[in-house]
Amino acid sequence: MKTIVAKFGGSSLASAAQFRKVGAILAADPARRFVVASAPGKRDSGDTKVTDLLYRCYDAAAAGEDFAPVLDRIRARFSDIARELGVAFDLEGELAAVEGQLRAGPRRDYMASRGEYLNSKLLAAWLGWPFLDAADCVRFTPEGAFDAETTQDLLSRALAGLDRAVIPGFYGADATGAIHTFSRGGSDVSGSLAARAAGADLYENWTDVSGVLFTDPRIVRNARPIQYITYRELRELSYMGASVLHEDAVFPVRRAGIPINIRNTNRPQDPGTLIVAALPEGTETVPVTGVAGRKGFAAVLVEKSLMNSEIGFAARLLNIFAQNGVPFEHCPTGIDTMSVVVSEAAFAPHREEILAALREQLKPDRVQLEEDLALIAVVGHGMVANKGIAARILGAVTAAGVNIRMIDQGSSELNIILGIDAADYETAVRGIYTEFYGE
Ligand code: ASP
Repeated sequence: MKTIVAKFGGSSLASAAQFRKVGAILAADPARRFVVASAPGKRDSGDTKVTDLLYRCYDAAAAGEDFAPVLDRIRARFSDIARELGVAFDLEGELAAVEGQLRAGPRRDYMASRGEYLNSKLLAAWLGWPFLDAADCVRFTPEGAFDAETTQDLLSRALAGLDRAVIPGFYGADATGAIHTFSRGGSDVSGSLAARAAGADLYENWTDVSGVLFTDPRIVRNARPIQYITYRELRELSYMGASVLHEDAVFPVRRAGIPINIRNTNRPQDPGTLIVAALPEGTETVPVTGVAGRKGFAAVLVEKSLMNSEIGFAARLLNIFAQNGVPFEHCPTGIDTMSVVVSEAAFAPHREEILAALREQLKPDRVQLEEDLALIAVVGHGMVANKGIAARILGAVTAAGVNIRMIDQGSSELNIILGIDAADYETAVRGIYTEFYGE
């Protein structure tokens, strides 16, 4: 039988009404055997995530302040859900244990993990499914580093003995039982680990958007979802700021060849986005898969005649950045010119030292600094096979009235990166979107 691991994010489990949607999604396909749950998220834009309340509660306890009012808000979130669903759940007993821990000596990760723990217990009780505690099968070292191999071993054995289960996301424990969490958004990682351990056919990641969008919906309001995207394309878009999945969530399933399907709990009829190693045979390739970008870059251009004949020139140039601890993001080159694109935040504290060192050590004809840049990455496998895509991208940006300051085509031909003034960022993205996807 097919096995699907379904991870539900915080907004999908924020209220009793959302729980009911999740129940219907699970009932619709018996292959959805293992559920990984987040803590209750925001019910509306003014709401606070339970995880944030838990951190607040910890901070109050650690500072020796009264944490009872925050704990009451947390209690209310869970008791509302339990009451509306009519599920018998010993919330008071569970919260007494949390309170005891807070009084005995609060631990931050333990506290943060209780949102996932309680929500998963509640969901399991409501569904009538077994609860599998991540503390028993997701392993960390005592220093808090994730231990992938032990986890795979423990988790695969635990899941093999179960027909169905609800597993809390976001945390695990070390061998002594002390709780450790992943970084924020880490339930995505837990879902991926469970999919790998279960040998699942599919990892479904249920959220509140109908997939990875072609571009940032704050810039293009009705941005369309992408139907298929490869892991590599996703990596390029995420690097450029598209927030889709926790960075570490891709690795376990990618390694096991399990596709990820991003789905919308509020619109289960939508197919969402399928993230795959390679596009299924016969899929119609679109020329451009997605567009992402970020502001906050600077470019240092170094010009020197005949730099190509000076052996080691590029290495010495990059070394100056390395010695100052500034990573470089891109490095477009021309004849007798080399630009180093850096993040402004990393570069600014070392600006003067770096510029002085470049002048002194490289004896260039010119050094020019351009600040306040935005980079836009246009990503897509289809760019290799389709002629004229670069021309369409550049044409669209120019037609939008934006001056292109830099162009860099990745050697993989998977992306074209444009550097523009930060002030033109939104206009340029909208221009590219309209060119490929219409109004
Ligand atoms: N609840 C955690 C957070 O808010 C983990 C997660 O939802 O993935 O970051």
